[in-house]
Amino acid sequence: MTFFSKPSAHVCPNPVEGKAKILYATDDPEVLLTHFKDDATAFNAQKRGSILGKGEMNCAISSHLFQLLEAAGIPTHWLKRTAPNEMQVRAVKILPLEVVVRNIAAGSLCQQTGLALGTVLPQPLVEFYYKNDGLGDPLLTLDRLFLIGLATPEQVETLRTQALQINVVLSDFFQKCGITLVDFKLEFGVNGQGQILLADEISPDTCRLWNQAETDPKQRVLDKDRFRQDLGNVEAAYRQVLERVLAQPISP
Ligand code: C5P
Repeated sequence: MTFFSKPSAHVCPNPVEGKAKILYATDDPEVLLTHFKDDATAFNAQKRGSILGKGEMNCAISSHLFQLLEAAGIPTHWLKRTAPNEMQVRAVKILPLEVVVRNIAAGSLCQQTGLALGTVLPQPLVEFYYKNDGLGDPLLTLDRLFLIGLATPEQVETLRTQALQINVVLSDFFQKCGITLVDFKLEFGVNGQGQILLADEISPDTCRLWNQAETDPKQRVLDKDRFRQDLGNVEAAYRQVLERVLAQPISP
């Protein structure tokens, strides 16, 4: 039996538990409650652990970044932060795609292409992965994406355009924080009116973030790679991101 920590607002039964968050329905069918957990997983949940305070930190970071993006004209699912580790979001049907934007080579791009870690890409790279744990979230070609009907060509065009706009806004913001935005993963959903909204979270769980004050390839890491690669000081790295992000005001 799974026990869920009690959410702050009145919610309906049957929460949906993911690896890092729990999604609760509310009395309003248009509104959901996202509860951020301290649980951490990597390599398709083969590595499991917990990062103390991660739920609250990721909720705070995500809330700040969603507001920043809204102010920049990107439609998002974010409504408000209702508790330290909870935010209210608009209900959307999540597209089964992980949209990854890369500015600098790292992670699977290095493993699959042989590019050296840290290679600055001539232009941002947008990639689509099939959000399917059973298949190991494979990288998609556009033809495969359309073949299995994961999104329409118009939706893919919107996703690509928005992902690149988000990259400009976030890269500029993190630059002001003294942090390099190496790459990140986005998820999008479709609301009742067919509009695409940025969904899920934006946090050190879903971004690669390098501290510009450090040159050492291990010391500079401020994201989930510290957990993935057992680099230690995971909580401290997330807290550093939190403090720097919250210190930067949101201006359109
Ligand atoms: O592993 P890979 O290099 O493809 O990851 C690219 C980016 O997407 C990284 O910032 C990683 O944290 C993020 N990502 C994620 N969730 C996944 C896969 C990747 O947030 N399931």
